[in-house]
Amino acid sequence: MTAAGAASGGHPDSAADVIVVGAGPAGATAATYLARSGVDVLLLEKSTFPRDKVCGDGLTPRGVKQVLALGIDVSGDDWLRNRGLRVVGGGRSIELDWPTLQDFPDFGLVRTRRDFDQMLADLAVKSGARLHQGTSVTGPVVDEKSGRIIGVTAKTEAGPRTFRAPLVLSADGVSARLALAMGIGKNEKRPLGVAVRQYYASPARTHDDFLESHLELWDRSDPRDPKLLPGYGWIFGLGDGTVNVGLGMLNSSKAFGRTDYRKLLRTWLDGTPEEWGLREAQAIGPVGGAGLPMGFNRTPHYGRGLVLLGDSAGAVNPFNGEGIAYAMESAALAAESVLQALGRPEGPSREAALEGYSAAMKEHLGSYYRLGGIFSTLIGKPAIMKTATRLGLPRKHLMYLVLKLLAGLYDGRDGDWADKVVRTLNSLAPSV
Ligand SMILES: Cc1cc2nc3c(=O)[nH]c(=O)nc-3n(C[C@H](O)[C@H](O)[C@H](O)COP(=O)(O)OP(=O)(O)OC[C@H]3O[C@@H](n4cnc5c(N)ncnc54)[C@H](O)[C@@H]3O)c2cc1C
Repeated sequence: MTAAGAASGGHPDSAADVIVVGAGPAGATAATYLARSGVDVLLLEKSTFPRDKVCGDGLTPRGVKQVLALGIDVSGDDWLRNRGLRVVGGGRSIELDWPTLQDFPDFGLVRTRRDFDQMLADLAVKSGARLHQGTSVTGPVVDEKSGRIIGVTAKTEAGPRTFRAPLVLSADGVSARLALAMGIGKNEKRPLGVAVRQYYASPARTHDDFLESHLELWDRSDPRDPKLLPGYGWIFGLGDGTVNVGLGMLNSSKAFGRTDYRKLLRTWLDGTPEEWGLREAQAIGPVGGAGLPMGFNRTPHYGRGLVLLGDSAGAVNPFNGEGIAYAMESAALAAESVLQALGRPEGPSREAALEGYSAAMKEHLGSYYRLGGIFSTLIGKPAIMKTATRLGLPRKHLMYLVLKLLAGLYDGRDGDWADKVVRTLNSLAPSV
């Protein structure tokens, strides 16, 4: 099913300059940038829009920057703005405004992924990408002589199909099926998270100027003896009478992989105030869960004609579990390298332009993600986390720095003392 009527650049329906696999934030963004530059792009998506994607639905200013970079108008009612982060832990709750910076806006947004992803996919189509929905890519087509990917096979409603292009962008999310099939495995030493979320009807919490993050989850089933649970949680109001609530855990935690995450969510929420409405009876739809591939846990980001983006590149921020911004940033960097590559004749020079994408990803986030890896190891230890929460939260200046570091919201040049501290830390850390 082809949703776009755009010109196919002289290619038959099943061939293009570039194939993008997956129309989430990474794939749709890359397809948009490339199509806007006149590249003939096939965007292959296994599901059919609108579709749900398990997510917290929250964008920090880092994500908003990417949305604005695409020229998307965020002034309408379908976007819910927030002015900062509320951090709850150690018996306290503090509100931190997003900082004023050269490099990032000073507001965040919330919008369901059902809407957000549809909007991004529509933009890709409007830009000229040819979107095939209901097209599940099953594997690479590999040139026997060179070992390069030259297309993909897919399952469609009409039966199996083969699509061909000299370059393939893998934006198929955490499953990274295509990368795996090309022999690019996961680095088990890098941080990995898992998260679950559920929507609730919650008039009391649906309007919120802040994204709310819970550093501690408590089991209050026995009010006289509350017990600290593993993991971290969030409550994001959606402004339409509902909230998105969820929790996550890192593989540095002892409980990782040995926990019933859905039950954990229920236990935590049953102890929240009754008036918030986070009880089973107010739940909307099922609990959804997925992995969070962090800290570049899948590299190289380019090899043999295949470019890895977003979750398939392990691009989730290990400091805070945010992935949309980084999926879109990787897409922008990839589009730049692919454009340079396509402008060169096939051969070493084109290859060098594509290798430039791996280098650009390292330069952009490598040191920061190295620090994030250390951070995620430390906070997996409850004693360290508890001490950090209790000592850190009451100190506003320290929390200002922590916010900038954890949300990646610092200026690359100029800036205040906190920007300089984060930049210094980055300069000291070797790239991942
Ligand atoms: C519970 C949870 C909460 C989260 N909360 C947040 C949050 O609040 N903010 C934030 O920034 N990040 C959050 N994240 C992370 C964020 O969801 C991801 O990092 C982000 O979606 C990555 O974008 P992507 O485009 O790389 O992959 P995806 O969004 O996963 O998109 C991949 C696309 O590829 C398609 N696809 C998969 N396989 C195939 C195939 N074989 N053929 C064709 N198409 C295929 C999928 O259908 C999908 O459309 C959360 C993650 C989880 C699990």
